[in-house]
Amino acid sequence: MVETPGRTPAAFLAGGHRRILAHLRDVMAGSGTGEQRLGRIVRLIATEMGADVCSCYVLRAGEVLELFATVGLNPMAVHKTRLRVGEGIIGDIAAHAKAIALADAPSHPRFAYRPETGEEPFHSMLGVPILRGGRVRGVLAIQHREERQYGDDEGEILETVAMVIADLIAAGDLLGAQEKPSLSAEALLPSRLSGVGLHRGMAMGLAVMHRHQLTITQVVADDPEREMERLHEALTRMHRSIDALVARSMAAHSDEPRDILETYRMIAEDRGWLGRIGEAIHSGLTADAAVSRVQNDTRARMNQISDPYLRERLLDFDDLAYRLLQHLAGKTSASDGVPLPDDCILVARSLGPAELLDYDRTRLRGVVLEEGTTTSHVAIVARALNIPVVGQCTGALSRIEHLDPLVIDGNHGQVFVRPGEDIQSDFADSLRRAENWERLYAEGRDLPSISRDGVAVSIQINCGLLLDLAHLADSGADGIGLYRTEIPFMVQSTYPDVPTQTALYAKVIEQAAGRRVVFRTLDVGGDKRLPYFFTEPEENPAMGWRAIRIGLDRPAMLRQQLRALLRAAAGRPLHLMFPMVAEVAEYDDARRILDMELARLARDGHPAPAALQVGVMLEVPALLWQLPALLPRVDFLSIGSNDLSQFLFAYDRGNPRLGNRYDSLSPALLSALRQLVDQCRAAEVPLSLCGEIAGRPLDAMALIGIGLRALSMSAPSVGPVKTMLRSLDVGAVSHYLDSLYRRGDRSLRNRLRAFARDHGVVI
Ligand code: PEP
Ligand code: MG
Repeated sequence: MVETPGRTPAAFLAGGHRRILAHLRDVMAGSGTGEQRLGRIVRLIATEMGADVCSCYVLRAGEVLELFATVGLNPMAVHKTRLRVGEGIIGDIAAHAKAIALADAPSHPRFAYRPETGEEPFHSMLGVPILRGGRVRGVLAIQHREERQYGDDEGEILETVAMVIADLIAAGDLLGAQEKPSLSAEALLPSRLSGVGLHRGMAMGLAVMHRHQLTITQVVADDPEREMERLHEALTRMHRSIDALVARSMAAHSDEPRDILETYRMIAEDRGWLGRIGEAIHSGLTADAAVSRVQNDTRARMNQISDPYLRERLLDFDDLAYRLLQHLAGKTSASDGVPLPDDCILVARSLGPAELLDYDRTRLRGVVLEEGTTTSHVAIVARALNIPVVGQCTGALSRIEHLDPLVIDGNHGQVFVRPGEDIQSDFADSLRRAENWERLYAEGRDLPSISRDGVAVSIQINCGLLLDLAHLADSGADGIGLYRTEIPFMVQSTYPDVPTQTALYAKVIEQAAGRRVVFRTLDVGGDKRLPYFFTEPEENPAMGWRAIRIGLDRPAMLRQQLRALLRAAAGRPLHLMFPMVAEVAEYDDARRILDMELARLARDGHPAPAALQVGVMLEVPALLWQLPALLPRVDFLSIGSNDLSQFLFAYDRGNPRLGNRYDSLSPALLSALRQLVDQCRAAEVPLSLCGEIAGRPLDAMALIGIGLRALSMSAPSVGPVKTMLRSLDVGAVSHYLDSLYRRGDRSLRNRLRAFARDHGVVI
């Protein structure tokens, strides 16, 4: 159902919601078996909603939906009509946990005709999932003979009734405690779920179903005033606990989780959200059921919204609703009272950033989410905590049981559920091997980054959050070759002003403790959207209004950022670079803006940076033909190979269909880079590379072979690349590469791998 924020309480009650709830309460309090009560409920709904049919399907073992009660369909079909999840419209509602309203159901492509039910004469249908603890337990549907549109109020009534039926099912009154659908033989088999790796790493442990213990014991209430009081008491406790969490996270972590939590605290005070909960209470629900109802609405909205920022906000509301339910139930957090195994892997539909921090960090080994994207807040926090995360893992909630053994692989986005002994032992072996390597990398941390034949290569890291800076010292990197300034902008809810930016950059410089940090000015646009900066949707965002193009068209933004960077340097050295520069004139324009800010810095009495180095990211191929004009103007160049490859080969780097089509180790890219290396060397302009390929040992071997002497990569890649470098004879690989540039091969990867194997290069 679509939320209708403007709905008045009077309108909400107009559908007889309150009366239905009062009757429901009588049915639930009355005598009889679970099935008899279910029969009374469907009759009540059919009468009150003027429906010709009301039917209830319950999920049984083996993902089968069985008709358990009906008014209007052939009573002989009860316990006979069965649909698989995904089959027909009813199966579709269960498969997507989403309500469906159809004016003409038989014309729907998913209509599955069951002659035993006598369904043909009914045209319209409204069905809602019966949900419990985030899982589908069945489907409740009404039908009308004539074609008609259903209103939001009708969907809401049905959803409320579905909550009551979910209670009946959970209490074991319908299926019997011995039959829990998720414990079917099928569900107990080992299985593998695929998702997207949101943070790398591997982990093995027992599943802890986030929020699995949540039950609403009473749906209908007599005394709305008392329920409002309970709501306000719970809200006060929740606000207090969020405040404590903010304070705790400020002490234990750096700024970003706090910023996220601050946003979250503001959302907790959202009047619209609280108003809707109040309305639901006044319609006759308990405070718990009202919160749950509003949460269901939020979920339904989430299913219809693809905008990542809005979805993130809705996830925050979803998260808050759970928190509030916990407080209504007298618990303080989702993890409260749940005994955690020593190695636990958290499984959730989605997680708010605050929720992840609720769990005992020393036992948490990994996270599996049904939702979640790389830019979601939880992924950012998990990355800072260095926990592997697999997101977009469809089926995780229905296929994983609490305390199931799990193996997760964040590198490849895989989750093994109840893995067989072979997988467990293979995995334990790989984990041991990975741990051995980690130990070796840690031991080599302070060894010089120098090849076997004495060639020094500077190994640096890419960062975007203050939390990442801890890795600078851990990894033994020389400095930060790429500080993506847009990342802190992306996790804030408002545009950070100059003092905020200044404080942030100053912290980065301080924490780098004298090591070089290259700040890249804002690279927003494309797939990196700022929640508070509206841009029109574009046909080709990667090639659209992004990065320096925005900076030059909106100079105030760029000026403010440069002002903050210059002030943050406070007389120390400063390295800046501009992203996505396509022509020398753009660099000149950016440089002019920098000069204006330098003049202002002096006017305002701030000290100038001890040394100011200004560079350009080489991401647009056009720049390769402007080097004679560009090189004398810049202090350094940094190759953004992620974008450079996509523009060189004209392939969309985010399109999975093209993922393997073009290889970075192709004669085309390597030749282009080699010419660039030669020209920079002749002009004595330092050159580095900061795209993903810098962090892959085999690719890094080739880059060093063509003459690159500075690579910047994600922190976990430093150890593997340094180990490779220390086993490499640079002279030999350069010589070998000379023989390859002219080849017509699409990739030199296999040849280079064979070279590494034959020459004892550790890749
Ligand atoms: C690149 O394009 O290689 C790069 C490092 O920038 P980003 O990945 O942030 O676009
Ligand atoms: Mg780029």
